[in-house]
This record gives sequence, C-alpha cells and structure tokens, in this order.
Amino acid sequence: MDAMIMYFGGIEAGGTKFVCAIGDENGKIYARERVATEEPDVTIPKVIQFFRNFKVESLGIGSFGPVDLNKESKTYGRITSTPKLAWANYPLVQTMEEALHVPVGFSTDVNGAALGELYRGAATGLDGCLYITVGTGIGAGLVSKHQLLQGLSHPEMGHVLLRRHPEDKFEGICPYHQDCLEGLASGPALEARWGKPASELKNDQKVWKIEAEYLAQALMQYILIVSPKRIIMGGGVMKQEQLFPMIRARLKELLAGYLDFPELKERMDDYVVPPALGDNAGITGALILARQALEREHVSRP
Ligand code: ADP
Ligand code: ZN
Repeated sequence: MDAMIMYFGGIEAGGTKFVCAIGDENGKIYARERVATEEPDVTIPKVIQFFRNFKVESLGIGSFGPVDLNKESKTYGRITSTPKLAWANYPLVQTMEEALHVPVGFSTDVNGAALGELYRGAATGLDGCLYITVGTGIGAGLVSKHQLLQGLSHPEMGHVLLRRHPEDKFEGICPYHQDCLEGLASGPALEARWGKPASELKNDQKVWKIEAEYLAQALMQYILIVSPKRIIMGGGVMKQEQLFPMIRARLKELLAGYLDFPELKERMDDYVVPPALGDNAGITGALILARQALEREHVSRP
C-alpha cells in the first residue's frame, strides 16, 4: 500500500453479515471482506484479523441496533436490546478499540448510510438528508446541518404508526407494535402477508399499491417532523423500482400542497430518490465515521 495515503477502516455490521473495508479519505475502497454474522465469538475474531493486515488510522462502524450512542453512558458502544440474543449488550466499540488501538467512530447502519449518501452519493452538495432502508427491518437516519439527529437515542423511524389501507387486513409482524411501519411494510412483512418472498411479487399491482401507501404515509410524517433536504430510499424492498413513482405520487396527494416548496411539487423526482451508492452506502458511511473519529481525536488532544 502507498505510504502517503491515509487508510481508514470501515465496518457495516448487519444482522446477516459484517462488511469490512479499507478506504482512503476520498472514499476509494482498496480491500473488502464479508464475514457472516454468527455468534460474536466466531465473527469478531475474523473481523479483527482482517484489519490486522492493514495499518488503519481509525475505524468507523455503522451497526444494526438498537445501539447506545450516548458517550456519557456506561454502555456506550454496545448493541443493546437486539432480538439477536448472542449480540445483546455486546461491547462492539470497546472490543475493536482494544484490538486495534485506534479511534473508533460509531453509529447506526442507517446513520452511516445517510452520511455516505450525503458526502459521496445522492445528496452531495446539500447539508443534510434522510436515508431510509426498507429491508429486513425499516430504519432511518437524518443528517441536518451536517449533524446526525440524536436525542435520548438515535431515531427509530421504522416503528411509526400508520393509518391502515382499507383493503389491508394483515395484522402485522412487529414483535413490539404489531402493525407499525416495519410490521406492515418490511421485506418479512410482505412475505408474511402475501405468502411469497418480496422479490417474487413484482407483477402483483395490489402488493405495491399498499406498500407505496404505507411508505408515503411514513415519508409524510418525516417531512412534517424533521423537514429533510432530500429523502434517499434503499434496502432490498426498494429494488422494486416501480415503487418510486408510486410513492412520490401518493406523497404529493397526502401532502396536499400544504408545504409550498418546489422539492415537494415539481421537483419530487429529485427529492425521493434511490441511493447513488447502491449497496455501498453503508460501508462508505462507515469510512466517513472513521475519518470523523480521527478528526475528533486531533481536536481533543492538546
Ligand atoms: P438487510 O435489511 O438484512 O440488511 P436487505 O436490505 O437486502 O438486507 O433486505 C432484505 C429484505 O429485502 C428481505 O426481506 C428480502 O425479501 C427483501 N428483498 C431483497 N431483494 C428484493 C427485491 N428484489 N424485491 C423485493 N424485496 C427484496
Ligand atoms: Zn414496531
């Protein structure tokens, strides 16, 4: 590797795989490896081994969650109450810091993807965006004025409640809220409602009409509450590209002209968009979290 270039490590930690990558500050990726998400004792040593082969300045992690992002908290850097029981309370940040001795930046997977799309993808030139994934779960991250939205915790926008579509009698599958957005519109919810994997439902109009209804309702709430500069929709279910025009059209109807911005009227095609980075949004964001962690370290040192 070129000694003049600064290398950063990134991890996109997901429920099925950990994607590990080495990149530079321009987002160029030099090496990448996928490690299956098994028990931490199996997965983490392989992840550590990958980074030991390179000299990284810092590491960034975008993780499935919920995670503790409050630096004042005793459990900062842990995956908290995940249904993947082997990972509940797992100290991901601490373990990586102790193994690699570099600063570690940490956030949710969707916060990472939002940063990736903002600085290197579909929202470049803006100072913020909302990234939502519609996959195994539904989650979103918001950047506003270059800051990730963080309160008591990170947002959990996938679990908002919706008005039911009159033709939809499906009870929903969220173990906490039954028919929240994730319970009605995630990939597993589609499969449970229609009896086939979401990827095999392409030609069924009714499937996507109901799906677009729920996603448009959710976007309306996000727009009214946090006013994103642009909305990027990724995740497996959004590979059904026909959803984009359906969601935009329904969102316009629901907003009913109340907010008088060209983004929400004649420029809606540029407002609700797919990820420009495709499946690389998360890992690109993790590399940005790494760079930010290194910058913070320089600032906090005398
Ligand atoms: P994850 O959320 O686990 O990180 P994905 O974003 O790929 O991973 O989401 C997986 C979900 O997306 C699965 O429920 C799967 O059925 C659904 N999915 C994957 N590909 C497609 C597709 N082409 N069309 C519709 N749904 C899909
Ligand atoms: Zn829920």
